[in-house]
Amino acid sequence: MRMVLLGAPGSGKGTQAAILSGRLGVPSISTGEMLRKAVSEGSALGRKIAGIMATGDLVDDETMAEVVRERLSLEDVRKGFILDGYPRTENQAETLNEILAERNLALDAVIHIDVPEDELVKRSLARHRDDDREEVIRQRQRVYLERTAPLVDYYAKRRQLTRVDGHQPIERVASDIVGSLPACEGPR
Ligand code: AMP
Repeated sequence: MRMVLLGAPGSGKGTQAAILSGRLGVPSISTGEMLRKAVSEGSALGRKIAGIMATGDLVDDETMAEVVRERLSLEDVRKGFILDGYPRTENQAETLNEILAERNLALDAVIHIDVPEDELVKRSLARHRDDDREEVIRQRQRVYLERTAPLVDYYAKRRQLTRVDGHQPIERVASDIVGSLPACEGPR
């Protein structure tokens, strides 16, 4: 199962990625987590992106392509993966298609976890992470609307998109996602 989770900041992507990873037996790959780790370790990558991360803007597509290409070349993704936080731009979606096509692979599912905007801000404000100051949260929402939300249409046009109602209890969202997956794949 090769899956992308799409959704605004606060939509519950990370939570669902963790649940689905356990249930489907494939790793969840959170680019946000990978980048935060790089920043906290002070690696070359971390030093390059720390400033951008702090504002809520996106790390550039080229850097992200390197990060994701390397991650998807590791052994554990052979059985599949759940991408949480990538792609976030149309350019990144194209890069992902290329990386997969090089291996004769394609995505099995792109899930849009759909949550109303006022609910999103409420959830994000309740999270209290270091970079979750209110202005950063608003900037992240703006960036999502401008750069990432168009991916909903991008994947819908390619007939790869499934919308799931994210304004439900966590378990319901998870079972809606699992219920929407192609029949031949993974345990139910
Ligand atoms: P997240 O935890 O997914 O909300 O990501 C936290 C931050 O990491 C974002 O606000 C971006 O600055 C950066 N980031 C994560 N994934 C990407 C991506 N695919 N493209 C660009 N920046 C990203």
